[in-house]
Amino acid sequence: MFEISFIPAFKDNYIWLLCRDRQAVVVDPGDAAPVLARLAKDGLTLAGILITHHHADHQGGVGELTARALSCPPVPVFAPASESITGRTTPLDGGERLLLLGETVEALAVPGHTAGHLAYLAGDCLFCGDTLFGAGCGRLFEGTPGQMAASLATIAALPPATRIYCAHEYTEANLRFAAAVEPDNPAIAARAARVAKLRRAGLPSVPSTLAEELATNPFLRCREPAVIEAARQHGAPDQTAVAVFAALRGWRNGF
Ligand code: ZN
Ligand code: FE
Repeated sequence: MFEISFIPAFKDNYIWLLCRDRQAVVVDPGDAAPVLARLAKDGLTLAGILITHHHADHQGGVGELTARALSCPPVPVFAPASESITGRTTPLDGGERLLLLGETVEALAVPGHTAGHLAYLAGDCLFCGDTLFGAGCGRLFEGTPGQMAASLATIAALPPATRIYCAHEYTEANLRFAAAVEPDNPAIAARAARVAKLRRAGLPSVPSTLAEELATNPFLRCREPAVIEAARQHGAPDQTAVAVFAALRGWRNGF
């Protein structure tokens, strides 16, 4: 299995770096400079790029990275087929299996944040871009609540030990919202204490595990009575999972 580390970018993005035998794959390189610096420092060759969605903070570095790599054949850029992606070589719709650094990587369609958003599953590691965050989920820029709820259900059905490599450090703020939704959930308070300690030490709060998200992430808990009750007080017209999800998402937008 490859080793996984991160390259910090912008204010709160994580560019995930998968590495094996000095070959590297990066996920969502929004900025080329910190990736090029890391490749040079560690003597790594860029072997591939995975893109989850078209937003600039996820694909902005692709042009420069592929131009600098000067390899033949060119560095493969795996990305959503239905979105506008610079330098894409391999368009994906979800459901495909790729072979990267000797591992099978499965593309999953998880629309909602954007219409063509993909996640990539390698063993028990999920690179989910802006779909699921630590204790939260992405905003609905292009998809419907129904699509996003279905995408989150796809992720929730993976094994609980799955590690969640999301693309932003948003966990602390998300846990404040989670505590407002479920003030009596002790797992949320415990996680908030753990995350605060990590962040004070300058460490990332991610990856989390799916088990941790299932216990603390309100957007994965739309069938819990306490979450339904809170959503009903914030505009959910009924207690279906999609109505609860939509009310939570709307509440979070203004939180
Ligand atoms: Zn995004
Ligand atoms: Fe983003």
